[in-house]
Amino acid sequence: VSEIAGELIEQRLKRFVDVCRCRGLKVTHQRLEIFRQLASTDAHPTAEEIFNRVRVQLPRVSLDTVYRTLATMQEYGLIARVEALDDRGRFDANLERHHHFVCTECKGVSDFYWPSLDVIKLPREAKKLGEVRQICAELRGICTSCQSQPG
Ligand SMILES: [Zn+2]
Ligand SMILES: [Zn+2]
Repeated sequence: VSEIAGELIEQRLKRFVDVCRCRGLKVTHQRLEIFRQLASTDAHPTAEEIFNRVRVQLPRVSLDTVYRTLATMQEYGLIARVEALDDRGRFDANLERHHHFVCTECKGVSDFYWPSLDVIKLPREAKKLGEVRQICAELRGICTSCQSQPG
Protein backbone atom coordinates (compact mmCIF):
# COMPACT_ATOMS: atom_id res chain seq x y z
CA VAL A 1 0.00 0.00 0.00
CA SER A 2 1.51 3.27 -1.09
CA GLU A 3 1.01 6.71 0.39
CA ILE A 4 -1.46 8.89 -1.44
CA ALA A 5 -0.05 12.28 -2.40
CA GLY A 6 -1.54 15.22 -0.51
CA GLU A 7 -2.32 16.86 -3.80
CA LEU A 8 -4.44 13.92 -4.94
CA ILE A 9 -6.33 13.87 -1.63
CA GLU A 10 -7.07 17.59 -2.07
CA GLN A 11 -8.29 16.92 -5.61
CA ARG A 12 -10.57 14.17 -4.39
CA LEU A 13 -11.92 16.35 -1.61
CA LYS A 14 -12.59 19.18 -4.02
CA ARG A 15 -14.46 16.87 -6.37
CA PHE A 16 -16.39 15.49 -3.42
CA VAL A 17 -17.53 18.96 -2.34
CA ASP A 18 -18.36 19.96 -5.94
CA VAL A 19 -20.46 16.86 -6.60
CA CYS A 20 -22.27 17.18 -3.25
CA ARG A 21 -23.16 20.83 -3.97
CA CYS A 22 -24.18 20.02 -7.48
CA ARG A 23 -26.45 17.18 -6.41
CA GLY A 24 -27.82 18.82 -3.30
CA LEU A 25 -26.13 16.56 -0.77
CA LYS A 26 -25.15 18.47 2.35
CA VAL A 27 -21.41 18.51 3.03
CA THR A 28 -21.48 17.79 6.75
CA HIS A 29 -18.32 17.60 8.84
CA GLN A 30 -19.03 13.92 9.39
CA ARG A 31 -19.41 13.09 5.69
CA LEU A 32 -16.29 15.05 4.87
CA GLU A 33 -14.21 13.22 7.50
CA ILE A 34 -15.46 9.81 6.40
CA PHE A 35 -14.66 10.67 2.81
CA ARG A 36 -11.26 12.10 3.77
CA GLN A 37 -10.28 8.84 5.44
CA LEU A 38 -11.22 6.86 2.36
CA ALA A 39 -9.60 9.35 -0.01
CA SER A 40 -6.33 9.16 1.92
CA THR A 41 -5.69 5.52 1.23
CA ASP A 42 -5.49 3.17 -1.72
CA ALA A 43 -5.93 0.12 0.50
CA HIS A 44 -9.64 -0.28 -0.32
CA PRO A 45 -10.68 -0.39 3.33
CA THR A 46 -13.81 -2.01 4.73
CA ALA A 47 -16.43 0.05 6.55
CA GLU A 48 -14.99 -1.17 9.87
CA GLU A 49 -11.50 0.00 8.92
CA ILE A 50 -12.82 3.40 7.90
CA PHE A 51 -14.80 3.56 11.15
CA ASN A 52 -11.65 2.90 13.19
CA ARG A 53 -9.82 5.73 11.46
CA VAL A 54 -12.72 8.17 11.60
CA ARG A 55 -13.25 7.54 15.33
CA VAL A 56 -10.02 9.36 16.08
CA GLN A 57 -11.53 12.59 14.72
CA LEU A 58 -15.15 11.89 15.51
CA PRO A 59 -15.31 9.94 18.77
CA ARG A 60 -19.10 9.89 18.78
CA VAL A 61 -19.59 8.43 15.33
CA SER A 62 -21.12 4.92 15.19
CA LEU A 63 -20.28 2.07 12.86
CA ASP A 64 -23.86 2.18 11.65
CA THR A 65 -23.49 5.82 10.67
CA VAL A 66 -20.32 5.02 8.77
CA TYR A 67 -22.15 2.24 6.91
CA ARG A 68 -25.05 4.51 6.04
CA THR A 69 -22.78 7.36 5.00
CA LEU A 70 -20.75 5.09 2.72
CA ALA A 71 -23.97 3.76 1.16
CA THR A 72 -25.15 7.31 0.48
CA MET A 73 -21.81 8.28 -1.03
CA GLN A 74 -21.90 5.23 -3.25
CA GLU A 75 -25.41 6.09 -4.37
CA TYR A 76 -24.26 9.58 -5.30
CA GLY A 77 -21.30 8.25 -7.26
CA LEU A 78 -18.79 9.75 -4.84
CA ILE A 79 -17.09 6.47 -4.06
CA ALA A 80 -17.13 2.95 -5.43
CA ARG A 81 -17.73 -0.33 -3.72
CA VAL A 82 -15.36 -3.18 -4.41
CA GLU A 83 -16.34 -6.80 -4.01
CA ALA A 84 -13.14 -8.68 -3.44
CA LEU A 85 -12.49 -12.23 -2.30
CA ASP A 86 -14.07 -11.94 1.09
CA ASP A 87 -17.69 -10.91 1.13
CA ARG A 88 -17.09 -7.79 3.21
CA GLY A 89 -17.56 -4.81 0.97
CA ARG A 90 -14.56 -2.61 0.49
CA PHE A 91 -14.60 0.99 -0.59
CA ASP A 92 -12.63 2.95 -3.13
CA ALA A 93 -12.27 6.70 -3.61
CA ASN A 94 -10.44 6.20 -6.89
CA LEU A 95 -13.07 6.94 -9.51
CA GLU A 96 -10.73 6.87 -12.45
CA ARG A 97 -11.06 3.88 -14.71
CA HIS A 98 -8.84 1.24 -13.16
CA HIS A 99 -8.61 -2.42 -12.35
CA HIS A 100 -7.75 -4.49 -9.30
CA PHE A 101 -5.13 -6.98 -8.34
CA VAL A 102 -6.45 -9.12 -5.49
CA CYS A 103 -4.05 -11.13 -3.37
CA THR A 104 -5.53 -14.50 -2.45
CA GLU A 105 -3.28 -14.70 0.63
CA CYS A 106 -3.65 -11.35 2.41
CA LYS A 107 -6.82 -10.31 0.52
CA GLY A 108 -5.13 -7.04 -0.32
CA VAL A 109 -6.63 -5.09 -3.24
CA SER A 110 -4.35 -2.91 -5.36
CA ASP A 111 -5.19 -0.56 -8.19
CA PHE A 112 -3.60 -0.71 -11.57
CA TYR A 113 -4.28 0.92 -14.92
CA TRP A 114 -4.66 -0.98 -18.15
CA PRO A 115 -5.36 1.43 -21.01
CA SER A 116 -5.25 -1.24 -23.71
CA LEU A 117 -8.02 -3.17 -21.96
CA ASP A 118 -10.15 -0.05 -21.66
CA VAL A 119 -10.39 0.23 -25.45
CA ILE A 120 -10.87 -3.46 -26.17
CA LYS A 121 -13.67 -4.52 -28.50
CA LEU A 122 -16.24 -6.63 -26.73
CA PRO A 123 -17.36 -9.96 -28.14
CA ARG A 124 -20.80 -9.78 -29.72
CA GLU A 125 -21.97 -12.41 -27.30
CA ALA A 126 -21.31 -10.06 -24.38
CA LYS A 127 -23.10 -7.20 -26.06
CA LYS A 128 -26.17 -9.35 -26.57
CA LEU A 129 -26.49 -9.74 -22.81
CA GLY A 130 -27.14 -6.07 -22.27
CA GLU A 131 -25.68 -2.61 -22.32
CA VAL A 132 -22.14 -2.64 -20.97
CA ARG A 133 -21.33 0.38 -18.83
CA GLN A 134 -18.12 -0.63 -17.18
CA ILE A 135 -15.36 -3.15 -17.69
CA CYS A 136 -13.42 -4.10 -14.57
CA ALA A 137 -10.69 -6.66 -14.53
CA GLU A 138 -9.89 -8.48 -11.34
CA LEU A 139 -6.56 -10.24 -11.35
CA ARG A 140 -6.00 -12.78 -8.63
CA GLY A 141 -2.64 -13.91 -7.43
CA ILE A 142 -0.04 -13.58 -4.70
CA CYS A 143 1.15 -10.05 -4.06
CA THR A 144 4.86 -9.25 -3.89
CA SER A 145 4.85 -8.79 -0.13
CA CYS A 146 3.21 -12.20 0.43
CA GLN A 147 5.64 -13.74 -2.06
CA SER A 148 8.60 -12.52 -0.07
CA GLN A 149 7.29 -13.99 3.15
CA PRO A 150 8.88 -17.30 4.15
CA GLY A 151 6.63 -20.35 4.17
ZN1 LIG B 1 -0.71 -10.47 -0.27
ZN1 LIG C 1 -9.50 0.55 -6.77
